[in-house]
Amino acid sequence: MSNLRENLSDKHVLQSDALHQYILETSVYPREHKLLKQLRDATAESDYKALTGMIVPAEEGQLISMLVKITDAKRTLEVGVFTGFSLLTAALALPKDGQVTAIDIDRKAYEVGLPFIRKAGVEHKINFIQSDATSALDEILNKVEEFDLIFVDADKPNYIKYHETSIKLVKIGGVIGYDNTLWYGTVALTVELAKEHEYMREVGKSVKELNSYLASDARVEISQVPIGDGLTLCRRFK
Ligand code: SAH
Ligand code: CA
Repeated sequence: MSNLRENLSDKHVLQSDALHQYILETSVYPREHKLLKQLRDATAESDYKALTGMIVPAEEGQLISMLVKITDAKRTLEVGVFTGFSLLTAALALPKDGQVTAIDIDRKAYEVGLPFIRKAGVEHKINFIQSDATSALDEILNKVEEFDLIFVDADKPNYIKYHETSIKLVKIGGVIGYDNTLWYGTVALTVELAKEHEYMREVGKSVKELNSYLASDARVEISQVPIGDGLTLCRRFK
């Protein structure tokens, strides 16, 4: 498993790159908002270029946009913004009076995407909080705010903790999405990753713990969507 990166794509868990490309070219790129494309391209040319792969792939953005609309969301929460691709996606999908609260420890990354968010005319829908997610979520909890939709895409080892807060923050009938729940496909590996892949191995363990935790959580129904790097949707029903 020494050549992990060569064997596992960081963009999708599909059979082939060609299939991913087919989906993008047929169904996604022709409909993608030009400012979303510009934001992604600007990230790839910024100081954060090495991390561009952290952005959800465009087909997942399309699903997030649809989720916002089919849940008729007015208030959403995002944990893990980076340069704002998924955030801009949500802000574009929200109604005029919609609000997205967005938490990230790194404001500089957010500022890479901010000009595109402004150009899209949706900055007024965004409440960006620069903070560690745990403290920001605890603070929001004290305000007794309720969200229709929550998207969690930050530090995976804390996801179970974020779930416990998110479940209180999302309304009954609302949806929480956890990103990267297939962790580059490694969750199904039958052998342990080699020492040089310690980060991948350790985060992978957390992701597997999360997946088991969610699977046995009686407060939600779940759907593990094999899009991007895996997106687990949880609908709170009690
Ligand atoms: N959702 C974004 C990508 C997010 S990448 C998109 O698809 O476009 C993950 C982000 O989580 C990074 O920007 C990182 O700064 C943030 N992050 C990691 N740990 C965090 C923490 N403990 N608190 C807040 N943000 C955190
Ligand atoms: Ca992600």
